[in-house]
Amino acid sequence: MKAAILHELKGPLTIEEVVQPKPAAHEVLIEVQACGVCHSDLHVANGDWPPIVPITKTPLILGHEIAGRVVEKGNSVNDLEIGDRVGVPWVHWTCGECEFCQEGNENLCAKQQITGVTVDGGYAEFVKAPSSHALKIPDGLTCVEAAPLFCAGVTVYRALQRAKIQPGQRLAVFGVGGLGHLAVQIGRSMDAIVTAVDVSEEKLAHARSAGASITLNTATTNVVKELRRAGGVHAALVTSAAKAAYDAAYPSVRPGGILLVVGLPSESICFPPILLAALELHIQASSVGTRQDLRELLAMAAAGKVHCQVATRPLAQVNEVLEQLRHGNVSGRIVLVPR
Ligand SMILES: [Zn+2]
Ligand SMILES: [Zn+2]
Repeated sequence: MKAAILHELKGPLTIEEVVQPKPAAHEVLIEVQACGVCHSDLHVANGDWPPIVPITKTPLILGHEIAGRVVEKGNSVNDLEIGDRVGVPWVHWTCGECEFCQEGNENLCAKQQITGVTVDGGYAEFVKAPSSHALKIPDGLTCVEAAPLFCAGVTVYRALQRAKIQPGQRLAVFGVGGLGHLAVQIGRSMDAIVTAVDVSEEKLAHARSAGASITLNTATTNVVKELRRAGGVHAALVTSAAKAAYDAAYPSVRPGGILLVVGLPSESICFPPILLAALELHIQASSVGTRQDLRELLAMAAAGKVHCQVATRPLAQVNEVLEQLRHGNVSGRIVLVPR
């Protein structure tokens, strides 16, 4: 099969012919029809992921927003059939037994396998995955539409769920790229009043059509002043990887409100404890999501409440796509199609 291979960190991926994976008894073989390109793929390829997520496999096939069709299954697979359309998320496998799995937070599983990091991912014609963690894609959602939900979508869905946003509350989304434009829609479906914040007029225009009531351009507006004038926000979700986004988001949160940490700047972010304490602010980080989060999000998408803005590109153009992402020139999500 054809696959994009990472041989060494920071190097370009090379398109090669490699041996097609063979599913074990509990696994399915999936013909990849779409694989989203996530900012995390850049971090993995650069080797700048913190030691908490070590790359244990080289050479490696990246890609953890996979959607495709089951073409083969192991002997003990009973929950999926040949022909089923399934998606494979970042969380590739979890043990089900550790305290995190038992507490319902399998995304924190101490023994987890990670798609496209510790095992091969979806920048390929085929990928294998445990049938327990390959989730069925509802009818009515194409593979191309569904793929980005398996990381970008579920990450912001979980973050917003954990903020327990109530109807009528104010939510600001900082950065309306791949994750942010989905967060705007999920926020709207929770009946929040959504403000989208970005430096790109094009992305802000898209945020408005995705349901943002207010858009603020950080290049031309004092965002903190504007948000505070309206009473501050109940929740500020940062999807941007720019430290400046956190510097603006934190003071925009109203007393008792919550800062949702999703975007990952390479620098540390610091907040004065006196403000944290005096305003009783909450900081909640979020790491992708569980299978339950994904099922809920897929149902929302099938009901037409969330549409990912997608553009497709052939797998052969993977390096160009990663370069485009590195420079922040991607609106919505780019999805690779192997053929
Ligand atoms: Zn991702
Ligand atoms: Zn576990």
